Amino acid sequence: MKKKELKDIYFRLLKYLKPYIKYFILALFFMCLVSAIMVAIPWTLKVLIDSALIKKDAFILNILALSMIGLYVIKGILSFCQNYLMIYITNNVISDIREQFFSHMQLMPLEFFKRHSTGELMSRLTNDTFILQQVFSTGLVSLVLDTLTLIGVVCFIFYIDWKLTMATIFILPLAFLAVQKFGRRLKSVSYRIQERSADVFAVLQEILSSIKIVHGFATYEKESERFKKINRESVKAVLKAGRLNSIYTPVMELLGAMGIAAVFWYGGYRVINGHMTIGDLMAFIGYIGIITTPVRRMGSNLGNIQQAMAAAHRIFSVLDIEPSIKDKEDAIEIKEIKGMIEFDNVWFKYPDDEEYILKGLSFKIMPGQVFAIVGPSGAGKTTIIDLIMRFYDPQSGSVKIDGYDVRDLSMRSLRRHLGLVPQDVILFNTTISENISYGKSDATTEDIIWAAKISNAHDFIDKMEKGYDTILGERGVRFSGGERQRISIARAVIKNPKIFLLDEATSNLDASSESQFQEALKRVLKGRTTIIVAHRLSTIIFADKILYLENGKIVEEGTHSELMNKENGKYRMLFELQTKENMFASL
Ligand code: ADP
Repeated sequence: MKKKELKDIYFRLLKYLKPYIKYFILALFFMCLVSAIMVAIPWTLKVLIDSALIKKDAFILNILALSMIGLYVIKGILSFCQNYLMIYITNNVISDIREQFFSHMQLMPLEFFKRHSTGELMSRLTNDTFILQQVFSTGLVSLVLDTLTLIGVVCFIFYIDWKLTMATIFILPLAFLAVQKFGRRLKSVSYRIQERSADVFAVLQEILSSIKIVHGFATYEKESERFKKINRESVKAVLKAGRLNSIYTPVMELLGAMGIAAVFWYGGYRVINGHMTIGDLMAFIGYIGIITTPVRRMGSNLGNIQQAMAAAHRIFSVLDIEPSIKDKEDAIEIKEIKGMIEFDNVWFKYPDDEEYILKGLSFKIMPGQVFAIVGPSGAGKTTIIDLIMRFYDPQSGSVKIDGYDVRDLSMRSLRRHLGLVPQDVILFNTTISENISYGKSDATTEDIIWAAKISNAHDFIDKMEKGYDTILGERGVRFSGGERQRISIARAVIKNPKIFLLDEATSNLDASSESQFQEALKRVLKGRTTIIVAHRLSTIIFADKILYLENGKIVEEGTHSELMNKENGKYRMLFELQTKENMFASL
């Protein structure tokens, strides 16, 4: 990381601290007091030897013993307050960052989630914020305390004997050099550990979420091998850090011992020559004793802070991604719509792709019409739905609702009028009622039952022991693909949207459910504009218009009977093929 980047990260973190600045200043004040007491303690050695022991003064001895206890009591209380304050501040700051990250992530367009794996995002939100929290609640405190103590001690030892201090300081640069060098090495190694453990996490997440495929293709060995490889990489990184950490302590101890030996030797001479008292020397040695740990700790704390900076950098780099699709500043809040949809010479390709998926597509759907889009898979049918939902924006041309370009409308108000039943049924692990009323928080029980009835879901829900309160994903609760799909349809129905977008919504329904669903659909679709993407053509015969899409272009359009009258028409051929298949299937 460059210096400027690092500075930016510090400033950004400070901004998060702003709401808690009063507590932070209080915590810093307590830290100053704690280190003042730390620095005062070796001084009592001097008083003990010079004023109490040599002069044989029992009174001073008693006072000293009592004040020693007093000092530790006060230090304990102050440490508690300061520790608790810092835990309070860091946990709040981290929660703020986590909440911001979560909200930001939700605003990201779908394309963002294609680029960043779920594992990676989860690792940012949990691991990286955890590192920040740990380092700031303990590492930073210890660094501040150690620095303050070090400054205090240096002042005191100068005061006791500057010549001895100068001699001692001779050895300090050596220690500092070592600390710096180690700190740098530790930093790069620990960054690698984090990267490797994020890799392990990502692989684990991917395999667990695709366990059905792993079982289905019996690729256990392959996946175990992949996991083993990545896990070994992570172990290697940890071992390297372990080696560095293990060398760190003995080297620092040796440096410490050299310092103490020098102080003993030179300080002893100064006492013998009458330049210092025995108490001075003992206090001096006491001071050197209390700074060896802080000096030693500083290296690793600096390393930890670097590690936290790397974590913060990763978090901020996600927060800095501007959503490629967002509301205009003057976006229109559309209250009521009639339901007209228009594609005007729409050209669209997915980001990073070369080839256009939709090639100059134009069509118009009047309010209340039912349009069906059919064609081979990969033709771009779902993409049309995605553009109406504004999951993506076209590169040229426009998608209009009631004459408004969807880019001019606020996404929230646009999507309120769209009832989407996507291809992949996604249900949450809550009750059936909550799943159905997901997009309509003020839905009543009647609304939920109405939506379920229309979607032909009421009967199977009603038969369940807990009915609408059944929790999905609970032990023993199993739903078939068709049942899940009907719940998903009810979720769109309950919003009472002016525009219905059904993307292969009936693909998982069995024949009898489907004919019932068709009936219900015809009822519910009255007065609404509907686009049905369908694979099975038998389900869309009643549509006002059918578009046959191939390779991002409309190759045929018309009603079912118009298209069936076309000699060698693509629609007609596909329809006849499917009818034959159905006949064979029913034999
Ligand atoms: P259909 O619904 O007709 O089967 P889609 O609209 O889903 O077709 O997809 C059209 C083409 O766009 C396909 O070739 C598909 O591979 C590609 N595609 C779909 N989604 C993405 C995406 N997020 N990124 C890149 N390419 C995509």
